[in-house]
Order: sequence, then C-alpha cells, then structure tokens
Amino acid sequence: TQKQFINLNELIKEVIKVASQQFEFDRIKIETNYDPNVPSMVLDGDKIKQVFMNIFMNAKDAIGEDGKITISTNYLEKKHTVEIKIQDTGCGIEPHHISKIFDPFFTTKETGKGTGLGLSVSYGIIKEHDGDIKVFSKVGQGTTFLITLPIRE
Ligand code: ADP
Ligand code: MG
Repeated sequence: TQKQFINLNELIKEVIKVASQQFEFDRIKIETNYDPNVPSMVLDGDKIKQVFMNIFMNAKDAIGEDGKITISTNYLEKKHTVEIKIQDTGCGIEPHHISKIFDPFFTTKETGKGTGLGLSVSYGIIKEHDGDIKVFSKVGQGTTFLITLPIRE
C-alpha cells in the first residue's frame, strides 16, 4: 500500500523480466507495444505488479506451450486514462465462465494448481485505483484483458 510515481511501461518491463525464464521455457513469445507518451502515475507499484503477474501466469497456463502474449499500453489523453491490453493465444474461456472469473475461488484448474484468487484479488486492486478491468475471450482463439487506469493528481 505504498503509492509512488510510476511509469507503467517500466513497471510492465520489470514484471516481464521476472517471468521471462518461464516464458522461454514454455516457448511463449512476448510481444510488446509501449506507448512512449504514457505519463507517470500515482500507483501502488507492488500491487499493480501483482495484477500483471497474475494475468501473465493465467495466460501462460492457458497457452501451455508454444504461443504468444501481446502486451500494449495506450495513453488516452482526452480520457485522462491509460489502457493496458494483455492478449494471449491460449485456450480461451467458455462463455458461461466469463461472468465468474473474477469471483473469489473460481478456478477451472486441477486441485493444487489454482486457488481461484488471482483475478478476484487483481479486480480489487484495480478498483482500489479507480480503474476497470474487462475480459474478451473466444474458446480456441485466446483471451484479452483490458485494464483502464485513471491519471490522478
Ligand atoms: P486460478 O489461476 O488460480 O485458477 P484466477 O482467479 O487467476 O484463478 O483465474 C480464474 C479462472 O479464470 C481460471 O481458472 C481460468 O479458468 C480462467 N482464466 C483466467 N485467465 C485466463 C486466460 N488468460 N485464459 C483462459 N482462462 C483464463
Ligand atoms: Mg491465476
């Protein structure tokens, strides 16, 4: 719960660096598209890192081996927000599961492999920042998470 001035592009790079060995091991390619105009924002850096780590690890689980995670940032100046998109080429989410994925303890993973807490905790963290998190998914094609964070004074 330490708020700092943080550049999201740099924060995302740090999280990718931590996860990169795992990604390489599973032959998961990372593609990034950073908007250089993303301004520094007041954020709880440790918590926001946790959100990205959760989403990246879910993407990794959904891909298994051989796939791609695409991460992009986008500064929407007029809306005073930054958008972060995380797209994976994984298995996708069943339509009847979509409304449950942010619920605490909802998991489709084998016992011991998932707690079902990652996304509910992530949702809480984004809401604490007055942001929003949305998901779009197609079974057999992949999943996209879209996070919106407001620029606050
Ligand atoms: P856990 O990873 O412990 O199962 P999460 O809260 O992180 O818990 O995710 C909940 C569920 O949402 C997962 O079990 C999975 O069914 C689904 N899910 C989350 N992210 C993805 C993704 N990128 N692709 C496919 N399914 C996903
Ligand atoms: Mg998870």
